[in-house]
Amino acid sequence: MKVFKFGGASVKDAAAVKNVSAILARFPNQKLVVVVSAMGKTTNKLEELIEALYAQDHRIYAGLLDDIKAYHYEIAAGLFAEKHFHIYKELEDIFEHLAQLFFKPLADNRSFQYDQIIAIGELISSKMLAAFLKDQGYSAAWLDAKSIIRTDNQYQEAQVDWSKTKELCSQKVLPMLANEAIAVTQGFIGHTSEGFTTTLGREGSDYSAGILAYCCEAESVTIWKDVPGMLNADPKYFEKTQLLSQISFKEAIELSYYGASVIHPKTVQPLQQKNIPLYVRSFVDPEAPGTTISAAAERDAQIPSYIVKFDQVLVTFSTKDFSFIAEKQLSEIFAALAQMQAHINVMQNSALNFSVLLDRKKIDVAQLQSLLGSNYHIRYNENLELVTIRHYNEAILAEMCANKTSLVSQQTRTTARLVLQPK
Ligand code: ASP
Repeated sequence: MKVFKFGGASVKDAAAVKNVSAILARFPNQKLVVVVSAMGKTTNKLEELIEALYAQDHRIYAGLLDDIKAYHYEIAAGLFAEKHFHIYKELEDIFEHLAQLFFKPLADNRSFQYDQIIAIGELISSKMLAAFLKDQGYSAAWLDAKSIIRTDNQYQEAQVDWSKTKELCSQKVLPMLANEAIAVTQGFIGHTSEGFTTTLGREGSDYSAGILAYCCEAESVTIWKDVPGMLNADPKYFEKTQLLSQISFKEAIELSYYGASVIHPKTVQPLQQKNIPLYVRSFVDPEAPGTTISAAAERDAQIPSYIVKFDQVLVTFSTKDFSFIAEKQLSEIFAALAQMQAHINVMQNSALNFSVLLDRKKIDVAQLQSLLGSNYHIRYNENLELVTIRHYNEAILAEMCANKTSLVSQQTRTTARLVLQPK
């Protein structure tokens, strides 16, 4: 059995859904678990809907709901000729539920409410894809991710209960695949032992594919993307990019950790444990070989990879009494950053200073000041770029630093990290 994952861009309109069906036709006589994301940018729209719900702004809520509805009905119209096809009834029920939700009491736990609403994007896309495939004559069934991926109740960032999920997979997925060729399920979604919906964190559908492959002992996972595979740099920022045709699990984990956005960082870990290869391929050009991520590491160092994060801020703490920044001070600073849920991209210390590089839009300067301002002077260097280069050399470092001031530079044997300020 193989696991395929199709992201939002691959089901963003009726033509895209038809393309997914055409890709599946290339794999006859295969047992497939197809994991699908919400269509296009639906998850972002649903996030706005949740904002409007909590702001109790009915005008905005109703407007957004109309947009989401119109978008999905347009796709449905392009896929299903028969107006009374049962999918329309399902869509109607879902949108009616959302319309009524506005008038119900708000859940105190907003993350809980978020997960119950946000999962609707994947619910709709998986229902539509499964119905379309069946209509096209595939042996396909809809599989409820809520019946297979068990998590704890950390809403919005749920942690997987691996042994329970494994048990549920053997009870539900394998019997389904004994009768059908394709099981279409939702990415990003899990459930608690009480049956409430949870989510695995934004962009978590890749991770769902990894979880299901691990728990069902799949042969491989293929993530179908709008890029030719994993590239050595983001084509948005680099003129020349190269395909990484083969890399190791370790390299893929490193690249996604540093911010390469092609695959969700958690996806590879379960696959690596069971030695299940991961293919990243293009849904635009399904003939192309794409990237193979497997245990073999010999090709890792052949091509340098570049990962750039923009809008970084370097926050520097120094003690007001000129005492050293030692373990006690560091633990105080870390505790405050953890409380703020800040994610540290780079850190560096000297006798009197401790600096952390953070994503600008994730920090609240006023909160940082109130938590640490009484003991520390806090300085900020804004508009910085963090460049990470795997398999670098001196010429690359010099080139990256041209016309920029390097504020921090850290190097291991394989990885260089530069915090750069444009001149
Ligand atoms: N639809 C979810 C998101 O946009 C999950 C995913 O697509 O991976 O974050």
